[in-house]
Amino acid sequence: MTDTVPWEYAPAPQERGIVTIAPSYGLFVNGEFTPAAGGRTFTTVNPASEEPLAEVALAAEADVNRAVRAARDAFEHVWGPMPGARRAKYIYRIARLIAERAREFAVLESLDNGKPIRESRDVDVPLASAHFFYHAGWADKLEYAGFGRARPVGVAGQVIPWNFPLLMAAWKLAPALAAGNTCVLKPAETTPLTALLLAEVCQQAELPPGVVNIITGAGETGAALVAHPGVDKIAFTGSTEVGKEILRSAAGSGRKLTMELGGKAANVVFEDAPLEGAVEGIVNGIFFNQGHVCCAGSRLLVQESVADMLLDRLRRRLAALRLGDPLDKNTDIGAINSRQQLDKIRELSAAGETEGAERWSPPCQLPDRGYWFPPTLFTGVSQSSRIAREEIFGPVLSVLTFRTPEEAVAKANNTPYGLSAGVWTEKGSRILWLAQRMRAGVVWANTYNRFDPASPFGGYRESGFGREGGRQGLGAYLDA
Ligand code: NDP
Repeated sequence: MTDTVPWEYAPAPQERGIVTIAPSYGLFVNGEFTPAAGGRTFTTVNPASEEPLAEVALAAEADVNRAVRAARDAFEHVWGPMPGARRAKYIYRIARLIAERAREFAVLESLDNGKPIRESRDVDVPLASAHFFYHAGWADKLEYAGFGRARPVGVAGQVIPWNFPLLMAAWKLAPALAAGNTCVLKPAETTPLTALLLAEVCQQAELPPGVVNIITGAGETGAALVAHPGVDKIAFTGSTEVGKEILRSAAGSGRKLTMELGGKAANVVFEDAPLEGAVEGIVNGIFFNQGHVCCAGSRLLVQESVADMLLDRLRRRLAALRLGDPLDKNTDIGAINSRQQLDKIRELSAAGETEGAERWSPPCQLPDRGYWFPPTLFTGVSQSSRIAREEIFGPVLSVLTFRTPEEAVAKANNTPYGLSAGVWTEKGSRILWLAQRMRAGVVWANTYNRFDPASPFGGYRESGFGREGGRQGLGAYLDA
């Protein structure tokens, strides 16, 4: 994809045979895979080739009822009364099985989602396993965690998006199980397969039936789940728009809620920053997972005095990124997850040009089939432009400049979101000064997109509320 590097990589394909994809999948309810009531299904496709991968059951309202009933039963009779030390054993088993079957999970994730195998193998799957390990450790120590005589909430209804399908399932299930809750989880329509493999792992770990239920389907299935009166706690990750809908429907119900919604993070580079490191951080911030990341550093704020130098280096770096087959171990940029998401990225990028920003992408050949978008940079972006305000959720970076630290803070905070931010500078005092003024749940300093199960993650304002990870994330699943 580049004319600036003097040599090419040889193909390094990951063996696909490690994964067996069944022609069809049922719903995982009460420890068994069963067809949906009414027998409806949908097709999940490989976004890199548009090849159908499998037919998946589409859960109807009757299935949601069945899953919630199974979860309630398991909560009251098995999982709720079980001592924490025994619950921990099951959660450890799940963690170990994910680690043992890591390559299988990684290949399946890349096939169903389109993300590069390097990322699913090195980030998504190890972090998913780490979440179960970390939370297994909490299961028998809840009474020492400072929550008082905390009890589990009951049945958790959990709805997750398509950008980190396995990892988001782990973020939701691990703390809920450690705290003694049972779960009904709905994965996104375009990426159900790794959640279903995780269901198989639950069987393999001999998790008691009904403790984890996984129901596949589209938006209506999610809506039926979160509206179900048998659900005591709703945990949602997805768009701000759907988050607001869920909030409206849950208002006054007294149920516990956590919402992890969109973002439009600023990645702020000061003139004293180590520029090579900053370039890597910017690339990681917005091009990791094709920019399908709620905390993506999608607005670059660079100090005017170094803007030209930084942008030169950034363009050179982008020209060396390799876009293509997600299962090639050298690939940096994989496929866009769906036709619908590709259309949205195209529409917002066209709006950026119409509004006067300058668009640039490196020379880049896109594959003929599948959903693809080249890494893209917009300069001369005004704060009022749609590409500076709206979440694009794609490999598109909007660049703005600033002169003083105060101006950087004002521009960084000029967004309805408040999920994350990045700062690049040599001065520790400036990091602290800026971090105190950023309205963001997470601020990374001289790094970006760092995650750890022990570290709480979440936002405020239009980015939602509540935290996932760490002691705080556990608290969201306890009635303290
Ligand atoms: P959604 O918010 O629509 O989807 C997230 C999850 O919610 C999916 O499982 C979805 O099901 C489900 N869902 C959809 N409608 C409802 C509903 N009314 N009640 C309950 N659950 C529902 O995100 P999209 O996939 O449509 O993506 C749209 C935009 O959202 C993206 O372009 C991006 O900007 C943003 N987004 C942000 C994410 C984040 O992590 N903050 C993650 C994903 C998207 P299904 O997918 O099957 O329809």
